[in-house]
Amino acid sequence: MRVVVHTDDADTWCQALARRLPDAEVVTSEAAGDAPADYLAVWKPPASLFEGQSRLKGIVNLGAGVDALLHNPGLPRGVPIVKLRDAGMAPLMADYVRFGVLYFQRDFDRYFAQQTHGTWREQPLIDKADWPIGVLGLGAIGAHVARALAEDGFPVHGWSRSAKSLDGVTCHHGEAGLSELLAGVRTLVTLLPDTDSTRGIVNAGTLSRLPEGATLINPGRGSLIDEAALLDALGPGDKEGRLRGALLDAFTEEPLPRDNPLWAHPRVRITPHMAAPTPVRDAADQVAELIRALDAGEDVETIDPGAGY
Ligand code: NDP
Repeated sequence: MRVVVHTDDADTWCQALARRLPDAEVVTSEAAGDAPADYLAVWKPPASLFEGQSRLKGIVNLGAGVDALLHNPGLPRGVPIVKLRDAGMAPLMADYVRFGVLYFQRDFDRYFAQQTHGTWREQPLIDKADWPIGVLGLGAIGAHVARALAEDGFPVHGWSRSAKSLDGVTCHHGEAGLSELLAGVRTLVTLLPDTDSTRGIVNAGTLSRLPEGATLINPGRGSLIDEAALLDALGPGDKEGRLRGALLDAFTEEPLPRDNPLWAHPRVRITPHMAAPTPVRDAADQVAELIRALDAGEDVETIDPGAGY
């Protein structure tokens, strides 16, 4: 069996996979030459990687979001695609979202703004129980984050495409469920995939349904957010708008262009798509197991290209 790996840090991945698949030949795309692969393990591969792949039996996406892969013009039809599910990313994401929630709930945004004027003023404490959070997307990562926040003592509402039941989380689905969720949350967390039905889901209409002073955390995908509507809801830099602030990790164009107004907005915090990098050690176990199961003809949950995630 030949496994070709294409990602940053492909050497580390090859070593990790070779240890877990001792009967396989595991090589980087650079070293692979023209010989075709049985399995590709990839993150954002060039379209040319798919050329001449005459015996491909499966593609493993080395991340949770498959949007880049599904938009790849070279992607062959009919080859099963699998993606990472949690694989160590969910706890990292929970840390990121916790940071964001506490940043607003404990008023760090206001304290850091006060610091620029040398103002010593304690803000009134708001109890976690009075800080409802909405998590859009209850997948492998979203569900973990929702549960973690609920365990921390926040009332948590989650939203997904299909109906779900999660301990400690009030679950919603469908359009009516979204309206119900939006009306009552102080922080909205977006952990949806980028698909035709989620693109621009946080738009002027969505933002206007959030309570005054709500906050946004987007580690999902940049395309979920209508940036112009977000800036409008945030209002001018010197006065809190309807939306109090935003913590953003993912953007439509990455790196975020230097002239994007989000960089300069005083109530926007920006991180460079670092919320939950794929941890090679945990993920390699899952990738090796997926390849083994695909090769053994076992039932494996594959991506539905129609749904887009
Ligand atoms: P999953 O694919 O496991 O889950 C996606 C969730 O979104 C599911 O609950 C699904 O509903 C829901 N969903 C999809 N479409 C809709 C829709 N139209 N309406 C309502 N709900 C919908 O994803 P993960 O939880 O693993 O990851 C979520 C996203 O986080 C990834 O797609 C990726 O974009 C992003 N990510 C970002 C990282 C970063 O570092 N910034 C790192 C890792 C991931 P249902 O359950 O009904 O199918």
